[in-house]
Order: sequence, then structure tokens, then C-alpha cells
Amino acid sequence: MSDTLPSKSVLDTRREQMFPQMDAHDIARIRRFGTVRRFAPGASIMKAGEVAEGLAFVLEGVIDVRQGGAVSRRESITQHGPGSFLGELAQLSGRPALVDAQAENEVEAIVVPPRRLRDILVQEAELGERIMRALILRRVGLLQAGQTGPILIGPFGTVDMLRLENFLTRNGHPHRSLDSNTDPCGQTLLKQFTIQPEHLPIVLCPDGEILRNPSESDLARCIGLLRAIDPEQIFDAAIVGAGPAGLACAVYAASEGLSTLVLDCRSFGGQAGASSRIENYLGFPTGISGLALMARAYNQAQKFGAEIAIPDEARLVADDQVGDARFHLQLGNGELVRARSVVVASGARYRRLAIDNLSDYEGSCVHYWASAVETRLCAGQEVALTGAGNSAGQAVVFLAAKVKKLWMVVRGHSLEATMSQYLVDRIRALPNVEVLLRHEICGLDGVDGSLNKVTVRNRDSGETQTCDIGHVFSFIGADPNTDWLAGSGIELDDNGFIVTGRNGDHLLATSRYGVFAVGDVRCGSVKRVAAAVGEGSTVVSALHAYLAKQRAMLAEAAE
Ligand SMILES: Cc1cc2nc3c(=O)[nH]c(=O)nc-3n(C[C@H](O)[C@H](O)[C@H](O)COP(=O)(O)OP(=O)(O)OC[C@H]3O[C@@H](n4cnc5c(N)ncnc54)[C@H](O)[C@@H]3O)c2cc1C
Repeated sequence: MSDTLPSKSVLDTRREQMFPQMDAHDIARIRRFGTVRRFAPGASIMKAGEVAEGLAFVLEGVIDVRQGGAVSRRESITQHGPGSFLGELAQLSGRPALVDAQAENEVEAIVVPPRRLRDILVQEAELGERIMRALILRRVGLLQAGQTGPILIGPFGTVDMLRLENFLTRNGHPHRSLDSNTDPCGQTLLKQFTIQPEHLPIVLCPDGEILRNPSESDLARCIGLLRAIDPEQIFDAAIVGAGPAGLACAVYAASEGLSTLVLDCRSFGGQAGASSRIENYLGFPTGISGLALMARAYNQAQKFGAEIAIPDEARLVADDQVGDARFHLQLGNGELVRARSVVVASGARYRRLAIDNLSDYEGSCVHYWASAVETRLCAGQEVALTGAGNSAGQAVVFLAAKVKKLWMVVRGHSLEATMSQYLVDRIRALPNVEVLLRHEICGLDGVDGSLNKVTVRNRDSGETQTCDIGHVFSFIGADPNTDWLAGSGIELDDNGFIVTGRNGDHLLATSRYGVFAVGDVRCGSVKRVAAAVGEGSTVVSALHAYLAKQRAMLAEAAE
């Protein structure tokens, strides 16, 4: 699941790993995890939009896998014969299938449900590695093909169309987008369903439901990404935030046997998911896109059985006394999550430019993220980018390859003061990037939410200049995501970061016993992916110690 998908398809380059062949020895090891089933010729084994029973390892016969249907010809994408298996990442977490599959002839297969699939991945390391790699590559293949999943129809470049496209892209969910202004197929569908322009964009979900300009939450529920949380279940750890800190915590907690829930109000990956290329994370000498790195972590957490709910927003941490739950989290949709401990990994959110009419252009022409979705809008044009940290530097390098000219607007005297030298050197070598030091963006002008002029001011002379620019990228730092904790009794510092490790407590313990904080949201943390991952994994030993103490106290009270 990568942000910038390579031009050659994964089907061409990694077909063997995508469709590994299990030998008799492998099949013998798989048998104890599943149930042997027989399917008559023509029987449906998997239906797009419906939760499948699990992976199907073929013993006899052939399974035909098909994609498309609603707006394109339903085409066969592969066939699984003896030794091959049917399934992709959706079956790891028991979410609705993205493709249809049916028995070509009499089929006998071992069907492995999601929970037992996770057991294979953990208990059968080498076999599990081959299966996991195939599941991931198949998802990448579906993302590249863009023929499965929900179909978005609406005017390209509009706020709501971008919002929905971004949501699906950032969550690694295959989908197809059709421009209602130019795509004949999209226009025919709109007529067929008598959709009025004010209801655009619409989403055709794989189960046939049509959503009119839905919220991300409604879309996620419709396609099965988001499920209701059982209010009776008490999680050992409820983690707020699926950025690097939250996902690291989930991987370690779930792999060490704690029942774990991760909530994120937006997408997995947090700020790191916005990075076009992370080059300083240990073990990736050629660099890796933030989304690809975070997708690995997301799949890893699910492999160990962590439950992940996106988009679900935590609004408050409160006391609870049901069973041995000590806390509940109130969610934005009214649901409750009960937990024995809470880990706050809610990171930071981008700062906004102080320009009066900024909101007129946000979501369509002012961007806080530079991915394939945004570059499609401004390819070949002049754009402005403001900021001078590493995140700004990465975005400049990524965007410069796609745009005609990039104006980099920097408030300070030099890039070196705030940016890693490797990025400064790379920016200097880019012929289409002009760096304006000691400048700031002071005005935006356009028509009907479409930006066409940007004014910058020299901070020393006060002189202004206006350029014909339709897109602005803003990377001017971030503030802690802690507003939602108001009323939770958790101590914050003057800048809103969570104070931890007071009075000899564990370094990651907040002022509320049983609530921990990790990553960028924590006062004094180092704002880097590696530091967030380190804290997310470290906190798990503190969770064990805390939970053991709680259990001992409850046992003592029961005697
Ligand atoms: C564009 C960009 C590029 C970067 N590049 C690099 C780099 O190359 N190398 C490097 O080391 N660092 C880089 N960083 C910094 C790095 O990404 C952060 O330090 C790191 O992501 C912090 O991780 P975190 O998990 O603590 O928080 P975040 O990544 O901020 O994640 C927090 C998550 O919590 C969620 N959340 C917030 N509030 C709630 C709530 N109430 N309920 C539910 N969910 C909530 C958010 O949606 C978010 O997904 C970059 C940052 C940016 C913005």
C-alpha cells in the first residue's frame, strides 16, 4: 500500500510472490487451522461487499476471481488451482471482500477464518511470511488496478471529492474516481440513479448502496472499514491515535497478549503518513514513503490481533466501574469504549496560516499534505509552499518533480536553521524551485473557492508581490492534539502538551493513574518517527506492570 504506486504493476514484477504455490508439506501444516469445504461448480465463494469466511487454500478444482462490474466489464483477474489460495488483506481483519470469487468446477478447499489466519501468521513464521507478503501484494495490485471497491462520482478537485478520495487513499482502500463533468460512464450512472448536482459527490458501495456526499464515517461504515465497538468488551489497552506511536504500541501490546483497540479519527499513519519520503528511519537506506511504512505497521498490528477503528474520534477519558474497567472513552459517534488502561498517542495537527479567507480555499487549493491526489490537481502548474522544516523539505522535493515551478516561502533567514542538510542540498539542486527567504504568504485571492493569486510579503522591507498561483502547500508546524482531553483531568503544559513522568512516576505516565502518553503529544518528546515508535513500544512494559498491579489489588479485595 504505497502512496506513489510504481509505474510497473506489481502483477508484472512480483507475480510469483503474489500467488505463491503451497506444496504438500505446507498444506499439511495449514490443515489444523481450517475446515475442509466442498463447493459445487458455479458456487459463490466470495462476494465483493460481503464478509467472506476466510482464505481458501485450494486442494482440488479451480476458483475464478473477478473484479469490476458496476461501471466496467466484469473481468477475471486470476484463477486459483490446487496449491494456490484465495484471499487478500480484507480477510486478515474479517472485513468485506473486494472481489468476487466462484468455483469454476468442483472445488475442495481448506477455509481458514480470520482469527485462525492470524494464528498461522504468528505460529508458522516462514509459511506466515509467504502468506502475509501475498496478501499485501494482492492489495497493492488491487490499488494499482483501481477497479474494485467503492466508486466515487463527482467533480474532480472539489472539496468533498478530495476529502473522500483522500480518506480512501490514506487508508489504503482501493476505489475508483469518475469526474462527473467529463466521464461519460459517470454521467450515465448519475442519470440512471437520478442524482441531483447538489448531492454530489456520490459513492456507489460494493454492496449496491448509494451514499450522497457522505461523511468519512458513513463511507467507512458502508464499506465495512468501521464496525460498531462492543460496549461490553473491556480492552486491556485503548490507544488513541494510529500514528507511529499508537501503531507501535498496538504491535507490541497485541503481540504480548493484551487485548488492544486503536482508534483514529482520520486514517492510520498520522503525520508520518503525510511524508512523501522518510529517509532517516533506521533500516530503510533507500528511504520509504510514510504511507508505505505506516501501512506495514497497520497490517502488522492487525496480524497480532489488534482491533483498529478508523475513523473514530475519542472525545473524553472518564472513570468507569463496569467489571474491572477503570476507564471509558467517549467517542464522537456516541459509542463508549471500556478499557483497563489508556494510551494517548494523539500526536499533533498542522498549524494554519493566519489569513482571513483561508477557509475558502482549504481542502481544494490549500493543502496540508502532498500526495498523488494533490499533485494530480497542480501538475505542470506554478505552486507555492510555505514552511522550512523537514516536512516542508520533503514536500518540496516530491512536488518539484511534478510542477512547473515551486515558490518556497520561508519566514526565516536560512533553510539550514530548521531543515536537515541532505534536504537543503537536494532543494538547492532543483532548477524549478525558488526559495524566498524572510517572506510570508499574506493574501489569497480567487473566485468561488478556486484560488488564482497568492500575495507574499518581504518581512524586512514590507514589500509585497502577487503571483498567479492556484495551489498552496502549508507545512508550518503543528500543535498538540489535546483539546479532546479537556475535562479528563490530565495535566497539560502551557503549550498544551501532556505532562508525563512527574513525582518519580514512569516516564510515560500521565497525571492520571492508568493513562499513559506517547509520541508527539507528550511534553518533551523528540518529534521524530523513530522516537514515537520507541515510546509506543516502551510504554507496553509499563502497561504490563500497571495491569499486574491492578489484578493483584482486585484479587486482594475479593479475598
Ligand atoms: C509531512 C511530514 C513529514 C515528516 N517527515 C519525517 C521524517 O522524514 N522523519 C521523521 O523522523 N519524522 C518526520 N515527521 C515527523 C513525524 O511524522 C512525527 O514525529 C510522528 O508522526 C509523530 O507520531 P505520533 O504517533 O506521536 O503522532 P501523529 O503522527 O501526529 O499521529 C497521531 C494520530 O492521532 C490521531 N488523533 C488525534 N486526536 C485524536 C482523537 N481525539 N481521537 C482519535 N484519534 C486522534 C490523528 O488523526 C493521528 O493519526 C514528519 C512530519 C510531517 C507532518
